Amino acid sequence: SAIQKSYYMGKQAIPVLKGITLDIHKNEYVALMGPSGSGKSTLMNILGCLDSPTAGKYVLNGQDVSKMDDDSLADVRNKEIGFVFQQFNLLPRLTAAENVALPLVYAGLAKKTRHEMALAVLEKVGLAERSHHKPNELSGGQCQRVAIARALVNNPSLILADEPTGNLDTKTSIEIMDIFGKIQSAGNTVVLVTHEEDIANHAHRIVRLRDGLIETDRRNEHPAKSALHGVENIYENG
Ligand code: ATP
Ligand code: MG
Repeated sequence: SAIQKSYYMGKQAIPVLKGITLDIHKNEYVALMGPSGSGKSTLMNILGCLDSPTAGKYVLNGQDVSKMDDDSLADVRNKEIGFVFQQFNLLPRLTAAENVALPLVYAGLAKKTRHEMALAVLEKVGLAERSHHKPNELSGGQCQRVAIARALVNNPSLILADEPTGNLDTKTSIEIMDIFGKIQSAGNTVVLVTHEEDIANHAHRIVRLRDGLIETDRRNEHPAKSALHGVENIYENG
């Protein structure tokens, strides 16, 4: 059944998602667009198991997660979801490698293993040589690559990104989009929110929300490829 979400101001329910039916298949690459306040982040938080719908059913990898308690939901989130935010959300006192290794603490892995896994993913996003730097010693694009590495380190099936290029210049945005393209090619499902048509055009499917409903849901027949020369090797060779 369609997903609804209301926020409560005291006893008054304010409907934000008013009936969303969305079927996302494994390995799809979806861009979510729509005006400010249309409910994109609210929907992403539900898809990412950060929040539950008020009504309706959300089935993730065959499992109904709509009515799970917070602990079970956190469990699913740690196993199945990688989330990337506009503000990077890195911990300032930790190095790049320590930030990336953080989700593995919940997985109960030994410290040495966590560090090795973090380095391997940082290498994938082209940041191996910055692993010991803290966020304030990195550029915005580098911080976002650290955040992407952190999202990938658990090997989740679903990567969600809420305006991942919102704080980045055009050239850096294209580099980041190139990484998402590589992630999708490697077999992950990718859903990202953006306000920019050029960014959305990298996705294979474009869903537009308006006022808590899906306005359009279209296949993108000619997705953009990275325009930057030499970016090709970032993901593979570090
Ligand atoms: P933007 O493009 O500005 O990020 P959005 O499409 O992501 O917008 P949401 O953040 O999902 O929009 O918000 C949708 C509506 O829900 C807005 O009217 C917002 O004010 C409201 N809202 C979002 N989060 C909460 C909350 N925690 N409590 C109450 N209202 C909220
Ligand atoms: Mg938002």
